[in-house]
Amino acid sequence: MTGVPILMYHQVAPDTAPAFRKYCVTPAAFRSQIRWLSRTGYSAIDLDTLLEARAGLAALPPRPVVITFDDGFQDCVDYAVPVLLEYGMTAIMYLVTGLVGHVSTWLQAERGVQFPLMDWATARRLEAAGFRCESHAVSHPRLPELGIEACRRELADSRTALEEQLSRPITHLAYPFGSVDDQVRLVAAECGYRSACTTRIGLSPAGDDPLALQRVPITGSDSLLDFAVRLRTAHTPAELVTGKVAAAAALLRWRAQ
Ligand SMILES: [Zn+2]
Repeated sequence: MTGVPILMYHQVAPDTAPAFRKYCVTPAAFRSQIRWLSRTGYSAIDLDTLLEARAGLAALPPRPVVITFDDGFQDCVDYAVPVLLEYGMTAIMYLVTGLVGHVSTWLQAERGVQFPLMDWATARRLEAAGFRCESHAVSHPRLPELGIEACRRELADSRTALEEQLSRPITHLAYPFGSVDDQVRLVAAECGYRSACTTRIGLSPAGDDPLALQRVPITGSDSLLDFAVRLRTAHTPAELVTGKVAAAAALLRWRAQ
């Protein structure tokens, strides 16, 4: 196996704002994706299991997949969670702890849209149902743009809030915007995180840096074929062809020099 696919979803909803369409998968598409995972023998695992397996302490199922949702949108609770429960799959929800129960204010500045975020009671219900709620910082900043103290507060305070609300140790993080540099990675380690997801595209190989895990984005325009190919390659067939064409063009240019 070349690596474990760590799927990155954001929103699952019947409709969304045009500026967020790329990040929104419809409930029908989501259901067909999860059904496909189930029928082809994939088992959804959590990040503790992935890390334990990589430390030689646990075995992975034959076809492991990690399913993650960034931001904690209420839409995912309404439309994705029932499907995951139906197919016996777990998932990780990365929560912006300072905005739990409110709206995604950071998207207002970025894209002129905002959506409701799940509240703490919902997060506790998800945990009781076998899902995992983990950290996506306190306010969804670009961490490398903060001073080291502010960065530490974002990562430490978010962890504390989750631990108080969910009554268990929190050790998993997703960097907001996937934005990370060496210093942020170091602060994440100091704050006690054992894993942190980026938005770097790729399957997560056995030797992947646990504090800079690669993920497989699932977008609103992906067909089921795109999804199936992403599971094996992290990319859609069209992206793979474009990449090959670009590589061939670069080779031709180099030869022509
Ligand atoms: Zn996010």
